[in-house]
Amino acid sequence: MRFLTTDPAAEPSNVLYKRCTFDLRTGEQRMEEIPCRNLEDVLGGFGRSFQDLAERKIENAYCDENPLIVNTGLLTGSSAMTGMRTYFSGYSPIKGSKAGLPAAMWSTGSGKFGAKFKWTGLDELIFENRSEQPVYVVIKETDVGPQVELKPAEHLLGLSTHDKIMVLQKDYADAHFAAIGQAGENWQNNFMGAVALSTENQLKEKEDKCRFAGRGGMGSLMGYKNILALVAQSSDKMKPLSEAVKKVNVNVIKGGGSARIQPIRCGGGGGTWAAYDVLQEFHAVPVNNFRPQGNAVPEKLFRENVEKEYDIKSQACYRCGITCHNNISEKNADGSKGEFLAKFDYEPLNLLSTNIGVHDAGQAARLIQLSDNYGMDAISLGVTISYALSYNERHPQATILNGATFGDYEKIRELIIQAGEGKLPEIGQGSMRLSESLSETSYAYHVKGLEIAAYQPETNPGYAWASAHRWWLIV
Ligand code: SF4
Repeated sequence: MRFLTTDPAAEPSNVLYKRCTFDLRTGEQRMEEIPCRNLEDVLGGFGRSFQDLAERKIENAYCDENPLIVNTGLLTGSSAMTGMRTYFSGYSPIKGSKAGLPAAMWSTGSGKFGAKFKWTGLDELIFENRSEQPVYVVIKETDVGPQVELKPAEHLLGLSTHDKIMVLQKDYADAHFAAIGQAGENWQNNFMGAVALSTENQLKEKEDKCRFAGRGGMGSLMGYKNILALVAQSSDKMKPLSEAVKKVNVNVIKGGGSARIQPIRCGGGGGTWAAYDVLQEFHAVPVNNFRPQGNAVPEKLFRENVEKEYDIKSQACYRCGITCHNNISEKNADGSKGEFLAKFDYEPLNLLSTNIGVHDAGQAARLIQLSDNYGMDAISLGVTISYALSYNERHPQATILNGATFGDYEKIRELIIQAGEGKLPEIGQGSMRLSESLSETSYAYHVKGLEIAAYQPETNPGYAWASAHRWWLIV
């Protein structure tokens, strides 16, 4: 961005951002420097993209007029802590109105892709139409400004999110990546595709430690456009810390707001996973499709219990002092770290364990890993599966799908694999469509087709509104 003013709130048009509009059908691109219309444009992310989406009348998410907008926020790539976000916006395949129109949606994640994208010199990339062939997109910094290029991607087809990133890393050593998994490739049958964003830990350790822009099927929209991955190639450009930013960063770490999700060794609760202990005090941890049973079963997944059998390590995104990730690995007989399994963040953990009747940490980690590798939104996936399990519990004589019930790890695993591979639209298209097809909608936990996160809706009266108008993110 280029600032020609010191007062962007009063003079937003004196702030310019660099936008590339890329027509995937013709290969033509338009690179422009655009004056901001208002403060939302200056702030970037969904504040800007939603103004553009509002100008389009889209009746079906999978149509050429539905753009995929990739952009960053004002602080992305700055030295302000947690300035890591990449935003993906478009009309959602999974969320929509009662009249059947798709809803405008944004989804965001951290990792280092956003910073690299910003450092190429580009602020926003809008994809129009769709490519005939599978492609990946390289955004790179050059002496004459950012350049955007399409590359053939047949060799990436069928690979998991992590494997796509590993393959691309061999050719682009100084880059970061955003990739879809098989779920996004199978967009016709899977509306909950997520976009995986690479992290420094993932690229160094070769373990699938992506962050995700998970909500609303932005990975499925990316798959519809036949884009399998984005590569942002630039040198690192972290600026020295100014005194003002230093103060903000100290406040982020010490101000209390992040205390609960910092590592235990720093006096925090150990990531969002700590919500288990807090909610269990009130027996409000979702169990068996949001039916808490007033017992101690959720405690099996308390950190102190998981720690006895598994290795747990806190890690952070690039230069973030909050360090909210909790990596679960097997523990070797000598106590050392074994095979990496998954990250435990509260929502994926609850919705792919306790809320589907699975109470074993290792099984939960394997299910989260599958969801991550296929590139699915763990919230939509977990809640749609818990609906199906609930249906089967209510109809033991006329079960659906493979007849899975709460706690049946092997059959649940099979459902996830089939959904990820695009062979199970009943799960892949979400709980609203499944429950309507079965004419049993009263225990499907979604708002306008978007599954709710892992909190009992009755504990927060504003919850449905929040899901209807905003959405949660997986970071
Ligand atoms: S470590 Fe956690 S808080 Fe920090 S940027 Fe990454 S996801 Fe955000």
